[in-house]
Amino acid sequence: MKVLVINCGSSSLKYQLFNMEDNSVLAKGLVERIGLEVGMLKHQPINNNKVEVSEKIPNHRVAVKMMLDALLDKNHGVVKNISEISAVGHRVVHGAEKFSDSVKITDEVMDVLKECVAIAPLHNPPNIIGIEAARDMLPDVPMVGVFDTAFHQTMPNYAYMYGVPYELYEKYSVRRYGFHGTSHRFVSAEAAKMLEKSIEELNIITLHLGNGSSITAVKNGKSVENSMGFTPLEGIIMGTRCGNIDPAIVPFIMEQEGISPDQMNNYLNKKCGVYGISGVSSDFRDLEDAAKNGNTRAELALKMFSYQAKKFIGSYVAAMNGLDAIVFTGGIGENSITMRQMICEDMDYFGIKIDEQKNHVRGKKADISLEDTKTKILVIPTNEELMIALDTVSLVKTA
Ligand code: AMP
Repeated sequence: MKVLVINCGSSSLKYQLFNMEDNSVLAKGLVERIGLEVGMLKHQPINNNKVEVSEKIPNHRVAVKMMLDALLDKNHGVVKNISEISAVGHRVVHGAEKFSDSVKITDEVMDVLKECVAIAPLHNPPNIIGIEAARDMLPDVPMVGVFDTAFHQTMPNYAYMYGVPYELYEKYSVRRYGFHGTSHRFVSAEAAKMLEKSIEELNIITLHLGNGSSITAVKNGKSVENSMGFTPLEGIIMGTRCGNIDPAIVPFIMEQEGISPDQMNNYLNKKCGVYGISGVSSDFRDLEDAAKNGNTRAELALKMFSYQAKKFIGSYVAAMNGLDAIVFTGGIGENSITMRQMICEDMDYFGIKIDEQKNHVRGKKADISLEDTKTKILVIPTNEELMIALDTVSLVKTA
C-alpha cells in the first residue's frame, strides 16, 4: 500500500510518498513560492537524482498537480499509475476541541475544519486549501487529517484553562491546546520501545526543539502538559517567536509603536525569540558560532533558551510526580550537542546526568545519559510524516 503525506503551508506544499509494506519513503519533495512570480518544485526520488522545476505556480491546485506529475513522471517518477496511491494523509495544525484523534476526511469534517479557522486564522486556511486541492485532483482516494493538537486533548482542564473569565472559553474557545502533538506522540512511543518498557508505566518529557519549540509531559502514554497554548506562540522562547511574556507588554508596545493587532501578532511571531534577542539569526548554528566568537547577545539568547527549557522540565516533573526519561527531538534537539549539554547540566537533582562522550551524536537515536542514572536522556529523530502515514493506513483499513 502506498500512502501520500501532504503538509500545506500558506505558500508551500511538502510531500512524502511511503511504501507501507516496510514504511520506506519512495519520494519526497517540496513545492514552494506558490502564488508568487516564480515558484519551484524540488522532487527527490529516493533511488534517483533530485529534480528541480522552476515556473509560476499560481495556486495550491497547480502545486498538487505538479507533485502528482513528478510522482508519475516516466524518468524520475516512482509510481506508474495514479491508482497506486491508496490514501492521502494531511497534516492539520489546529483541530481545537473537535478532534482528539486523526479522522477520515468527509464533507462534514471539512465543515468542522472551517469552523476551526476562527481560532487558527494563520495556520488552518493553508491546510484546508491543500486538502481541497488534493480532493479535487484525487477524488476517489480516501484522505485522513492528522492534527498537531490532537495528542494534547488529554490535558486536564486545570492545565489547559487560562486565568481569564470562563465565558471566554465558552464563547471563543480560549484555552491552551498544545501543538507538535504528532511529533511528541511519535517520539514518546519510540522512547518506550528504546527503554523496553510499556509506555503506560512511564513519565516522559519530550522536547521538540526546532524553529518552533515545544515541550510535553507524557504521563502513562498521555499528554498532560504542553508548553504551547492557544496558538504556537506560547511557551519557551523560539527562533523568531517570543514564547511566554507578560501579556501587559502587548498593549504597551502597540501603544508605544502605534501598531495594529495584526502587526503586533506578526511582530511577536516573526521578529522576537532568539533572533530578536541576538540580532544575529534564528538559526542555532549561527548563534553557537557567534557566541563562540564572543557575541554576548547570541550567548544570552542561548542561555535564555536552555534556562527556560530547564524550568519547563522542572515544572513537568512536578506535574507528573516523577520522571523516567527526557527525549530530545526536532532540528535543535537532534543536532545541537551544545544545547543538549546546556539544558542537561546541573539537573542531577532530577537524576538527569548527561554523558559528554555519548552526547557527541547528531540525527540518530541514542541514549546519552551516564550509566546507572535514574533518568534516561534520549535523542530520537522525529518522523511526523511516518506517523501521519501510519494513522492514515489504520483509519483507511478500518473504514
Ligand atoms: P526544525 O524546525 O525542526 O527543522 O529545526 C530547524 C533548526 O534546527 C534550525 O533553525 C537550527 O536552529 C537547528 N539546527 C539544525 N542543525 C543544527 C546543528 N547541527 N546545530 C545546532 N542547531 C541545528
